[in-house]
Amino acid sequence: MEVRELPLEDRFVEHFEEKGIESLYPPQVAAVEAGVADDQRVVAALPTASGKTLVAQLAMLTADGPALYVVPLRALATEKYETFSELPGVSVGVATGDYDGDDDGFEDDDIVVATCEKVDSAIRNGAEWVERLACVVVDEVHLLDARGRGPTLEVTLAKLQRLRPDQQIVALSATVGNADEIADWLDAELVQSTWRPVDLKTGVYDDGAIAFEDGENRRIDADDRPPTTALVADALDEGGQSLVFVNSRREAQQLAAELADEGFAAAPEIAEEIGPDATTSTGEALASAAKGGVAFHHAGLRAEHRSIVENAFRERELRVLCATPTLAAGVNVPARRVIVRDTERFTGEGYDPLPVLEVHQMFGRAGRPGLDPYGEAVLVATGENADSLRERYVGAEPEPVESKLAAREPLRTHVLATVAGGFADSREGLRDVLASTFFAHQRDESELRDLTDEVLAYLDATGMLRRDGGLAATDLGRLVSRVYVDPLTGAEVVEAVETAAAMERVTALTILELVCDTEDMTTQHVRNDEAGRLSEFAMRREDQFTKSVSEFEGNFQSWLGTLKTARLLADWADGADAETIDERYGVAPGDVRRLAESAAWLLSATEVIAEHLADGAVGRDADAESDAAADGGETADADYESVVDRIRETREALVERED
Ligand code: ADP
Repeated sequence: MEVRELPLEDRFVEHFEEKGIESLYPPQVAAVEAGVADDQRVVAALPTASGKTLVAQLAMLTADGPALYVVPLRALATEKYETFSELPGVSVGVATGDYDGDDDGFEDDDIVVATCEKVDSAIRNGAEWVERLACVVVDEVHLLDARGRGPTLEVTLAKLQRLRPDQQIVALSATVGNADEIADWLDAELVQSTWRPVDLKTGVYDDGAIAFEDGENRRIDADDRPPTTALVADALDEGGQSLVFVNSRREAQQLAAELADEGFAAAPEIAEEIGPDATTSTGEALASAAKGGVAFHHAGLRAEHRSIVENAFRERELRVLCATPTLAAGVNVPARRVIVRDTERFTGEGYDPLPVLEVHQMFGRAGRPGLDPYGEAVLVATGENADSLRERYVGAEPEPVESKLAAREPLRTHVLATVAGGFADSREGLRDVLASTFFAHQRDESELRDLTDEVLAYLDATGMLRRDGGLAATDLGRLVSRVYVDPLTGAEVVEAVETAAAMERVTALTILELVCDTEDMTTQHVRNDEAGRLSEFAMRREDQFTKSVSEFEGNFQSWLGTLKTARLLADWADGADAETIDERYGVAPGDVRRLAESAAWLLSATEVIAEHLADGAVGRDADAESDAAADGGETADADYESVVDRIRETREALVERED
């Protein structure tokens, strides 16, 4: 089937032809036959690089109104935004920034690219553009399985369909065990295939040779070198790049340094490009590896360095990339040979084998269409495990996608948002919404009832929702839902702001400790050698915290992590550079950015909640005064306004620092 034969306007046909897309790949033909360009709902479960983006574009460009493209990661939003922006005469918007606020900026866009959280937030804030969507494309829909964002994805899809029941839905998925179940849930046609534009050879390296699945046995000249080094050298001999997956940042850096020492291929220009601001230990390590033509890729890298690395690898200036599994799921960085060195991941307690789906996504990166004759995916055996590796990952079915909605955390968030957003005003109404989730399709809505009741009681007890007769959100509940924090965070913020309002001394550190000690913040680990100094610091500044340090309630050790995070953010807001933070706290620049971003978002949510408390406090103080007068005691002297001011200053300092 030719692009010309599709029901597309000429300008789009020309655009695709200019991109070298003239005839459709077989899975794309199947999607068209399933009606993707004809408003039909389609689930496309296809391997990496099989052309899912075109399938999405066919749906969006033929839809009878604006379209939404939902991505799981911000990094992917930018990539897709750039791709769609090239479409002639199409206006594209991208929504990934702040979680709060109603973006009315998308009213005139034909395509909006957004993370699922952003869509959820727009629905909660009553943004009009989400109500008009004729077509919704969901990228990486198998992430319904993810503990964090899976529930948000399923509830958001359920709500979108309520807002516009005739909406076309196109869900793109990696090859998973139960794509049919997802298609059933969405009432969509399933298009499933294992076709790839480049052949994939999968094998296990053991004892000096790769045993491929197709029967080929390739001897590798190891020369006493570690297996991974030998495999990389062998690919380079054939003119191919290698992408090596390991299980931690440290391993990625260490392996990159070792491989760079082999002197395979130098890339001094890239080292120079990274060099000028490689002031942190991570940056220095990267520049140094790049001199030897090798790089590493992990979440600790600064965004600028990550994109230098990705581009240089795509341009073949870097020949070897050592990455943590995060690279497998997102960005398009293919290589001739993918080497999966580590198939286990540290969970905090022990090592767990990686899911088949994840390893298959790593495999999927092998082979660059038009450049490589085929792609090779190689698992590295250690000791006696060659057979078990083969059995587990080669030719094995990936796990089925399973809903993660049945847990307290996602339910309290989504129950509150459903009621606050006007989707339900009674228990029955709530059940009705929950009945249209993927969980209810896979299991049964009734299995959520006990947990839902528990969550409703919690939301009532924390003053966010009332259960008299029907269900209604309070002003506080509506605010918490709109500013997009977990209700637990909301409750923590209310308590801490009330404490702060009665304190003598409220500093930036008070405010940062307050937001770092909420459910929505991830905090830094405290090393043994830091714990003593941090506790001393905490004692000295006890008057500045909303918690009692000397009579601490809860896990003190973990609170020290909160304190460490708050201190490093205070330094950062104060102007300390990445190098100083790295020296003082041993935290990589990419992480500092992420912490600062989360804190800035939580600070703006906290500011809104604190303002609400300040407004209410006027009435409450009067009550307290008369109570106190009746008791003959003193008036509570709570100063909410100063707390609000301090929150605002702290947020502004942090935000300014980000630019
Ligand atoms: P996926 O999203 O499935 O991983 P992409 O949509 O990114 O894959 O497509 C991978 C590459 O294949 C892109 O560079 C794209 O331009 C190219 N491509 C897609 N469809 C065709 C086609 N029919 N003919 C030629 N190239 C295509």
